[in-house]
Amino acid sequence: MKKVSIMIPAYNEESSLPALYPALCRLMDSHPAYSWEVLFVNDGSTDGTLDLLRAYRASDPRVNILDLSRNFGKERAMLAGFDYVRGDCMILMDADLQDPPDVVSRMLSYWEEGYDDVYGRRMERGEESWLRRRLSLLFYALLQRTSRFDMLPNVGDFRLLDRRCIQVLRRLRESERYTKGLFCWIGFRKKEVPFVRESRCAGSSHWSYRALFELAVEGITSFTTAPLRWSAMLGFTVALFTFFYMLYFFVKTLVWGDPIQGFPTLIIVILFLGGSTADFLRDYRRISWAHF
Ligand code: UDP
Ligand code: MG
Repeated sequence: MKKVSIMIPAYNEESSLPALYPALCRLMDSHPAYSWEVLFVNDGSTDGTLDLLRAYRASDPRVNILDLSRNFGKERAMLAGFDYVRGDCMILMDADLQDPPDVVSRMLSYWEEGYDDVYGRRMERGEESWLRRRLSLLFYALLQRTSRFDMLPNVGDFRLLDRRCIQVLRRLRESERYTKGLFCWIGFRKKEVPFVRESRCAGSSHWSYRALFELAVEGITSFTTAPLRWSAMLGFTVALFTFFYMLYFFVKTLVWGDPIQGFPTLIIVILFLGGSTADFLRDYRRISWAHF
């Protein structure tokens, strides 16, 4: 019998869990052909989330809990979860029912057809502010244009991953993560399932604009070398320009002389240092970004 794991990172979700857990039970009961496991990753919740999970666990052996020592953020909570899921495939979903469990049945049938990564594409994004929607779409467009492999826009973490994908993801240990990018980077046979993203069933989003901005910077610095290429181009252009200007001054002073004593020496030294520093800056950045 194939084993299917559901992994759910949860941070202060005590108001969502009473709706989520029955929905998960309905999903699991409607597919008796699989053996099921639900792995909740409690990401340092400070409300009653852990107590609720323990209560589910006491009466339902399918429920497992991974309890993190503090709040590490969703990205790292997912990494911890990858290490512990035991299924032949894994379904990753949010605790707030924004990722509807009935879509999972469609994902499972694609998995049975041989797809390794069946991801949900959001047709509607659920309730969110106009600004947040615009900024998200702008970010996806930027990443899509600048990265050198296919970044899927409007695709979140909600997906089914075959064991093979999980094994690869476990080997990517970076702690500053942009997991949506990693899913694209690992490749494998992918299949899209369109779905309408619901609004949160309870509570409010844990992502502040600042947290989203940090995630966006993480995505850009990890998955595209575009800023590096731009800075290299700029450095090179400045160096070239200063080199010719220096040469011009040198020749001009030799042929016609210069009315101001010492000025040509000064300007040539400044241009030489400025030009080579522009190039040096580029290399310096290359070194520091390589460590990201
Ligand atoms: N989450 C988490 N750690 C955090 C923030 C969020 O594990 O520090 C979980 C949260 O419980 C939920 C999922 O990540 O299951 C998505 O979070 P949220 O609904 O706040 O994000 P949004 O849907 O607004 O992007
Ligand atoms: Mg949510």
